[in-house]
Amino acid sequence: MSTIVVQKFGGTSVGSVERIQHVAGRVIKEVENGNKVVVVVSAMGKTTDELLTLANAINPHPSKRDMDMLLTTGEQITISLLSMALQMRGHEAVSLTGWQAGIRTEPIHGNARITNIETDLLQSYLDSGKIVIVAGFQGITASNEITTLGRGGSDTTAVALAAALQAEKCDIYTDVTGVFTTDPRYVKDARKLAAIAYDEMLELANLGAGVLHPRAVEFAKNYGVQLVVRSSMEDVEGTIIEEEVSMEKNLVVRGIAFEDQITRITVCGLPNELHTLSTIFTTLANHKLNVDIIIQTSMDKDTTNISFSVKTVDVSETIEVLDQYQDRLGFTSIEQESGLAKVSIVGSGMVSNPGVAAEMFQVLATEGIRVKMVSTSEIKVSTVVDVNEMVHAVEALHVAFKLGEESVERVMS
Ligand code: ASP
Ligand code: MG
Repeated sequence: MSTIVVQKFGGTSVGSVERIQHVAGRVIKEVENGNKVVVVVSAMGKTTDELLTLANAINPHPSKRDMDMLLTTGEQITISLLSMALQMRGHEAVSLTGWQAGIRTEPIHGNARITNIETDLLQSYLDSGKIVIVAGFQGITASNEITTLGRGGSDTTAVALAAALQAEKCDIYTDVTGVFTTDPRYVKDARKLAAIAYDEMLELANLGAGVLHPRAVEFAKNYGVQLVVRSSMEDVEGTIIEEEVSMEKNLVVRGIAFEDQITRITVCGLPNELHTLSTIFTTLANHKLNVDIIIQTSMDKDTTNISFSVKTVDVSETIEVLDQYQDRLGFTSIEQESGLAKVSIVGSGMVSNPGVAAEMFQVLATEGIRVKMVSTSEIKVSTVVDVNEMVHAVEALHVAFKLGEESVERVMS
């Protein structure tokens, strides 16, 4: 019995007629290896961004329902073109939208989670020998509303299909050759990792490494789907994402993620009471506003200040909501500092190695970089710094934790 392989190609990889032809070649290669192939594609090139611009030119506050209706057309272009390319080469292919592929989601526009996949139709196409091409990033609710899975969501479509079909593997083809110790566009010594653990990848993805959709990694971890991130252009080995990375598990820090457009908001003069924290963050959560690092500072026995970081795009809405509830929350004023960035180190070896955070702070202090906020988990340390120091901080940490040195990997293996 042949095995099922899921291949996913991102926007750049299908960005032109030539690239789609090239992708068709890749797909055929997998078919010739004797596998049943499901292909998930993104919208071509910058199509999704262009559709967003188009919508905003018509209506600055478009309804989320119509936004999903619009954005899902991008992927629909790619599935049909890729199917045609495969047929041109004598292969039987069938293109399916998210709903045709049985991808069910919760009823949330713009950022829906997949709830289940009804694979009957898909499976029957595979059984009849067809290459199945599925539109990424989209699904349908129980009441037949079209939804999208959030920017970058095609990765999640691919992993979810791999899990539902019990595929042998899920290859994510992209415009980089794998997962790097940090973004190679900023740090020239960044090194491609042979393998990385789900949890580490999940942290990196959540902390701003754009290479994979965080939810896709979460899905892969929960269902034990082996993921490979690799280049659609160059035929070189990619990065395997799996449960245990024995070869490199002794490395304390495995990657550095960073993200700009961070703002710190400080709510001043709050009553120093038992429920203050819960009230303020419940209020924000009820408005679906995501808060990241939180710091509470007691000013005296009656008042406290609470600072938290948010993405800069969410600042005005966050402040609007806080102002709206000022009476109930009881604060005196709100301060904000924009132009910040978050720099994080990630590695599962941190759990058993005390002093990693200390070393990070020491490196930053030596470089004269002021740390404005800190948060830690078992496998990461995040710092908020001035955006002008972001790349400087990443470079210094990359050197200090020896991430550019191939030899570290060899010694440990
Ligand atoms: N086309 C969508 C986006 O640009 C989804 C994806 O590419 O994964 O975000
Ligand atoms: Mg992507």
